[in-house]
Amino acid sequence: MMDWWYGIIGPSVWAAVAYTLIVTHATIVAVTVYLHRHSAHRAVDLAPGLALFFRVWLWLTTGMMTKEWTAVHRKHHATTETQDDPHSPQIHGLREIFWKGTEYYRAGGTAETLEKYGKGTPDDWWERKVAIAHPYLGIAIMGVVDVLLFGSAGILVWATQMLWIPILAAGVINGVCHHTGYRNFETPDAAKNLLPWGILIGGEELHNNHHTYPNSAKLSVKPWEFDVGWMWIRLFAWAGWAKPRSTGPVVAHVPGKAQIDMDTVWAVLNDRFRVMSRYAEHVVAPLAKQELHRADVSARRLFRRAKNVLCREEIMVGDNERRDIKAILESSPVLKIIYEKRLELNAVWAKRGGNREDLLKAFKEWCLEAENTGIQVLGDFVRDLKCYTVPLRTAAPT
Ligand SMILES: [Zn+2]
Ligand SMILES: [Zn+2]
Repeated sequence: MMDWWYGIIGPSVWAAVAYTLIVTHATIVAVTVYLHRHSAHRAVDLAPGLALFFRVWLWLTTGMMTKEWTAVHRKHHATTETQDDPHSPQIHGLREIFWKGTEYYRAGGTAETLEKYGKGTPDDWWERKVAIAHPYLGIAIMGVVDVLLFGSAGILVWATQMLWIPILAAGVINGVCHHTGYRNFETPDAAKNLLPWGILIGGEELHNNHHTYPNSAKLSVKPWEFDVGWMWIRLFAWAGWAKPRSTGPVVAHVPGKAQIDMDTVWAVLNDRFRVMSRYAEHVVAPLAKQELHRADVSARRLFRRAKNVLCREEIMVGDNERRDIKAILESSPVLKIIYEKRLELNAVWAKRGGNREDLLKAFKEWCLEAENTGIQVLGDFVRDLKCYTVPLRTAAPT
């Protein structure tokens, strides 16, 4: 006869651990694929059956509601690192967001935010009669199932499930990923990639990549980065249950093209984050290296940091970096030119909401002035930019 103390599965620690890892991973997949990439960003279409499965699973394991999560998250992207951002560690402090991330999430879900940012989320029988009407019933059912399976140890399994999202999603992603890690792209916020791979948070650790291309279904961009959520999307797509809508900007290169037209500007603009990281690698880095070799011992520390500090987005520049930038620019005329050129190129992007002709003119002027500096690597960079165009199947908007 079954010993009620150990539940249906019996006293196996390994079974409990394996079960906990599987169910918590399913919850992470539901958050990253369904709530984040499908609902909030519309980056991937999901078959109705799969979407419903995720909604039921989230109700059982987190009690989170699609509309609330979607709206708060869209607001985070619209207002990142400002006073309106629902959970910015740059504003409220990392400790606060790490430990109270879920509270910030709940507080962010005001009626006004739901109305403004929650459009296009489900409003069917399940949502109204179950998910919204009984938000805690699901997690209670989950608790009963865990106890039935593992007896008293089921309480521990259930507690782990309940803490998984508040700590890993609300704490680590919303807190740590806007505070610590590495950046592939100089986005105007403080978003960072925590690790190049991380099965525990389903690809969400690649947060700098995500803030760079928020509508991409795939969060990895470098060959060594691995996005678990994208792996699941590929599997679902193979089964016919999912269809990614976008995986980042698509641009074409026409080798030898020397004319700058609106298509060139549009393609470069779409791909501007990668363009700016190429500027850092192919223009700033070789010149900084050249200056390092020429510098005397006392100035070497400065030039070793040159690429890093000269290419940073304003929000990432602290007092120390500002001091270093000033010293570098004073001691190297060539680095001063390419630093100013980088700021000027950023200023060209800032014209993107205005008149098309002004944008084209500003871009052409930038290219011409860059070529006229006579700096070889900058000239090569401009030559490469001219090869950009939009792919044939998409045209520049008129
Ligand atoms: Zn973020
Ligand atoms: Zn997002």
